[in-house]
Amino acid sequence: MTDPAPLRLFNSLTRQVEPFQPVHPGEARVYSCGPTVYNYPHIGNMRAYVFADVLGRTLSFKGYKLTHVINITDVGHLTDDADAGEDKMEKMAAASAKSIWDIAEHYKQAYWADVRALNIRQPAQWTVATDYVPQMIEFAKGIADKHCYELESGLYFDVSTVADYGRLARAVTEEGEGRIDEVEGKRNAADFAIWRKTPAGEKRQMEWDSPWGRGAPGWHLECSVMSGEVLGFPFDIHTGGIDHREIHHPNEIAQNQAHCCTNGLDEAANSGAKIWMHNNFLVERSGKMSKSSGEFLRLQLLIDKGYHPLAYRMMCLQAHYRSELEFSWEGLQAALVRLKRLLMAVAGLRAQTVPADVAGAKFTPFLERFDAAVADDLNTAVALTVLEDVVSLKKVDAAEKLAAIAAMDAVLGLNLMATAREDLRIRPKSATIDEAEIEATLAARKEARAEKDFARSDALRDALAAQGVEVMDGDPLGWEWKLG
Ligand code: AMP
Ligand code: ZN
Repeated sequence: MTDPAPLRLFNSLTRQVEPFQPVHPGEARVYSCGPTVYNYPHIGNMRAYVFADVLGRTLSFKGYKLTHVINITDVGHLTDDADAGEDKMEKMAAASAKSIWDIAEHYKQAYWADVRALNIRQPAQWTVATDYVPQMIEFAKGIADKHCYELESGLYFDVSTVADYGRLARAVTEEGEGRIDEVEGKRNAADFAIWRKTPAGEKRQMEWDSPWGRGAPGWHLECSVMSGEVLGFPFDIHTGGIDHREIHHPNEIAQNQAHCCTNGLDEAANSGAKIWMHNNFLVERSGKMSKSSGEFLRLQLLIDKGYHPLAYRMMCLQAHYRSELEFSWEGLQAALVRLKRLLMAVAGLRAQTVPADVAGAKFTPFLERFDAAVADDLNTAVALTVLEDVVSLKKVDAAEKLAAIAAMDAVLGLNLMATAREDLRIRPKSATIDEAEIEATLAARKEARAEKDFARSDALRDALAAQGVEVMDGDPLGWEWKLG
């Protein structure tokens, strides 16, 4: 095998694809901004974690010892990413008359269920924001004198005290500034609260004492503190959705610069993480991505409609993470069929043999192409086609072929070795008919067709159609039936 391709990743800081050079030789330390657990995640949010998972799997595949941290935000994230609006968690708790802690627990569990369903690997650590409040207060105390000022509503970070504020966003445009809520007394429009005081006469469900009064930490402060505490500054890679490139991550960077400068670390070289990576959005035309719309696009909705969650993972892998991805049910169906094709091939091979320990020499060129694709800023779309090339190779040893497929799937995470074709067949929630009854009618119809009794076969097909079952004779890869 030729030398493995060096891993190259797009760094949003430089807007360039750069070679990955770990801070600690042989290691990769990654922090991903996690969900705010005030509601179910939508599938767009989950795209961010599929991306972070593929990054982590690729780093492992390239031989780095991975430490991945994902946080759970259970306090401090306002309805606007900048300084406007209410705390998302407090708002949801008030609306549903539930304890904020119960809400956080419920939606954290729901998020973890989606993580498992999408075969996203468990990170080394899930950090929960409310577990780190004392550390946040210490961090804020350390930078308060030189970089912050106090207003009636809390402690604010002065963005003019650090070099190059906003270089990640590259747009301290009028439009950018216009988004930021005007708080009276702020020195710069982009200044942001790192500690928010509970207004006099009010009581939050979540509040802590601090040198700046009783209140709660700002969302940006949380990620600076949790990433630095667990991974140490500087660490290798920080990830999030592209929206975070505009406000959340520039603010984290500013705090990290202040913190590192105060603690004698090199400010110029230190943004917290060396590489900042952002996945583009999953978009949907009719607005179903919004959590405020009634039937919003969560993974469970896909499952309820009969789609296996790994079909959604396949859909994500087909696009480059830096491209916008448009969601459609047709697209999801196509991804499901593609996944099914792979699973059928793997099932066929597994019926013949068990995987070998390593792929045979015949597969070397394929593994090299696969390696080159993922090393090229995680080009999963190309990597998938290489996997399919391996699957369609004829006259090769089945055990070695399976080994090659398994090696590639360790990066793609489609769980090809442990998922059966039948697992993909999920019964839509709206279906009220009995599966055994459908199978029996289908069998009777097959018999009628074999006997060339087309009148009876058509009648049986119509009977099934009346129950909402579409018979799919013409589609070699289709289910024998599909609920319409
Ligand atoms: P939140 O829970 O709002 O903090 O979002 C969790 C993650 O999902 C963040 O990394 C966001 O940047 C990301 N995200 C939000 N909406 C989308 C979307 N439509 N497509 C992809 N990622 C998204
Ligand atoms: Zn964050």
